[in-house]
Amino acid sequence: MDLVRIARENGVVGAGGAGFPTHVKLAAKAEYFILNGAECEPLLRVDQQLIKAYAPEIISGIKKVMETVGAAKAFIAIKGKHKEAIDRVNECIDDSCMTVVLLEDFYPAGDEQVLVYEVLKRVVPEMGIPLKVGCVVMNTETVLNIYNSMSQVPVTDTYLTITGKVSKPVTLKLPIGTSVRDALNHCGVTDTRGVKVIDGGPMMGKIIGDLDDPITKTTKGLIVLDEEHMLIKRKSMPLERARRIARVACEQCRMCTDLCPRYLLGHNMQPHKMMRKVVHKYQNLEEAEIAFLCCECNLCELYACPVNITPKSVNVFYKGLLLEKGIKYIPDKTEFIPRPTRDYRKVPVKRLIQKLGLNVYDKAAPLLDLYFTPDRIRMPLKQHTGAPAIPVVSLGQLVNKGDLIGEIPENALGARVHASISGKVTAIDQFITIQS
Ligand code: SF4
Ligand code: SF4
Repeated sequence: MDLVRIARENGVVGAGGAGFPTHVKLAAKAEYFILNGAECEPLLRVDQQLIKAYAPEIISGIKKVMETVGAAKAFIAIKGKHKEAIDRVNECIDDSCMTVVLLEDFYPAGDEQVLVYEVLKRVVPEMGIPLKVGCVVMNTETVLNIYNSMSQVPVTDTYLTITGKVSKPVTLKLPIGTSVRDALNHCGVTDTRGVKVIDGGPMMGKIIGDLDDPITKTTKGLIVLDEEHMLIKRKSMPLERARRIARVACEQCRMCTDLCPRYLLGHNMQPHKMMRKVVHKYQNLEEAEIAFLCCECNLCELYACPVNITPKSVNVFYKGLLLEKGIKYIPDKTEFIPRPTRDYRKVPVKRLIQKLGLNVYDKAAPLLDLYFTPDRIRMPLKQHTGAPAIPVVSLGQLVNKGDLIGEIPENALGARVHASISGKVTAIDQFITIQS
């Protein structure tokens, strides 16, 4: 069976981002393949440890992906600071078509477009994807899932780092659909009064509203912080309030633009211009379309702005308005040249951690075999880009771990979902609940 079909059947999606269905990526043809092992979000420790622990499996997965997309060369991109992972990969590489690329420790080195430039010195055009410059990029865990799918093992578990205000930060594998509360309890966090939990990294992650929500195929981290922590306060600010504050406080210093990774790649993302718009004529959407060039990395908002206001949120606000009106951004060129200052404007992760007030939590989170099977999981039918999966089980049905429970709707972009524990189906709504 070909890899496109195998990945589709086994529900493989991009494990590190929006959950783009991997079978669609695999159906493309590309010159190069890049393994994204950058893991640039502070405090997360998944990819660097998976590369070390599963180097032969990941290399095997890369070979199969290269064969499928027709790539002549693969680059394994890892930060130079992860020496053990690099040594392990170099020990296992047995093919001259594969090279390890050492990345500097800056944020957001793992942004797909930044990564492609770091590795290939090619700029992905505005609104484009890496395929536009001949390459396919996949996250480390995605490739591990592809490797597993080659033995018909579907995606039922995810790796994540649990860190922050916890006694022992840890990285572990858990069944998808496990509640955040169960995951935290399992790692010794039993009292959640006075804390909030971020799903993902501190920069792009979102605060989890309900700890009974499940972890998904794309959950990479749970960061526990005091509810008074600056990051929690900044992330809790309602969009409308952020917009109102932005209107009165922006100094037009341009720091947000000068450090914006997409601007530095030569794109036309200029957050200070969006701030000017929100100040003077916020309902006028003329020239607001550049908001679509924002990848929401949050660097402008959580690092660059000297008065702590919210250019990223302003972009998000405008994206919403523009989408409502059906207005799109249409690039007026296809070739982009990075700004000459780019090399001096990379934000070191260490400095970012300091600015975010996270030094005290910047600790190792070892990958441990702490797998557990919860009594109950709630498997979301939508945890990927595209249409929600359609349930193919009925109430009361008994399922085994790995059984197909949600199918891709006909002719739609989507991903299958599989049972992550064995048990009885007890509810079907936007989730399939399984009780052991
Ligand atoms: S960095 Fe802050 S103050 Fe300066 S232009 Fe951007 S939003 Fe305005
Ligand atoms: S969040 Fe800010 S820094 Fe990041 S791409 Fe958007 S405008 Fe640029």
